[in-house]
Amino acid sequence: TDTTASLTPKPWISGIAPYVPGKSAGADGRPLIKLSANENPLGTGEKARAAFRAAQADADALSRYPDPGSAALRETIAAKFGLDPARVICGNGSDELLHLAAGTYAGAGDEILYVRYGFAVYEIAARRVGATPVEADDRDYATDVDALLAAVTGKTRVVYLANPNNPTGTLATRVDVARLYAGLPKDVLFVIDQAYAEYLAPEQDDGGLELAKTQPNVFVTRTFSKIHGLAAERIGWGYASAEVISALHRIRLPFNVTRAGQAAAVAALGDEDFVTRSREHNAKWRSWLTGELESLGNHGVRVVPSACNFLLVLFEGDVGAETVYNRLMDAGYIVRWLPGQGLPHALRMTIGTEDETRGLAAAIRVALAG
Ligand code: PMP
Repeated sequence: TDTTASLTPKPWISGIAPYVPGKSAGADGRPLIKLSANENPLGTGEKARAAFRAAQADADALSRYPDPGSAALRETIAAKFGLDPARVICGNGSDELLHLAAGTYAGAGDEILYVRYGFAVYEIAARRVGATPVEADDRDYATDVDALLAAVTGKTRVVYLANPNNPTGTLATRVDVARLYAGLPKDVLFVIDQAYAEYLAPEQDDGGLELAKTQPNVFVTRTFSKIHGLAAERIGWGYASAEVISALHRIRLPFNVTRAGQAAAVAALGDEDFVTRSREHNAKWRSWLTGELESLGNHGVRVVPSACNFLLVLFEGDVGAETVYNRLMDAGYIVRWLPGQGLPHALRMTIGTEDETRGLAAAIRVALAG
């Protein structure tokens, strides 16, 4: 045996830039206002908070594993959305479910397709299973169905579509989604990642769940991390045909959602008021911030139309995105700069509380003038 050999990660892993979490404190040590992770600025609804506290108070249950099948949560989801509970799968965040889709259907020699400026997890999910990630061209930051369909090959096994998309915020219409699905071979799993679906108006529904109800190869994923304000507990869910769900279950982590997380998520689904308030708050301040930033067009500022709880803002003038990013940090705001995702000229900013949103707009004005 060669005792001088050294342990080496697989080459693709060394090629991935490590995740660098945003700073939490500014130069003066004061905490930064965090508008970098698309969290709910209203926090968590009272019902979910109460259920979480009650579950946490039961310390006698700490030594026991949580329900491996998240049964009560699946029943609650099914009842709310008119689904078959046996075809709902819960995950450690929807991130786990996205990874499961790749792990179940793709491997070495296969391709996994998504749009350029897609959600960052897709590339890692593909590489992790040895598959080749393929990016289709966007159309001015939006999903281009024709480009996606043109990129499908005999090796395509999974197509990911975040709808609406992170980091661009753009929404593919119901017609787009139906056309994309219709053009895909039936041996491809079409993953419709609806992490931001609850922010949409009813008429913006992309029809994903209807497709997942009736088609054998469509997997819709949702999350409790965004509008439900439960990002800390890591809870996502998905819906697909019985065959797809059965396959995904075989390789998932057995106890993937915590006990308190399952309880909090059940309660969150019963808190329509909180969801409605969160959606309305977001729509109001997203529209306000969009207007404020569009008035800075003379500085080369452009806002990509957003259906999400964040804006992708392009800085194409004299003061670039990196400079604005650093000046915002000095002013106490952390947003997301995206050079690693091919967007060095853009910042993604979450819609915060009223004060945070007004403060951010003012700080951007100062940053551009300075
Ligand atoms: N999909 C998209 C498009 C997202 O933006 C996110 C959160 N950043 C996720 C999935 C994953 O969310 P979670 O794992 O918290 O459910």
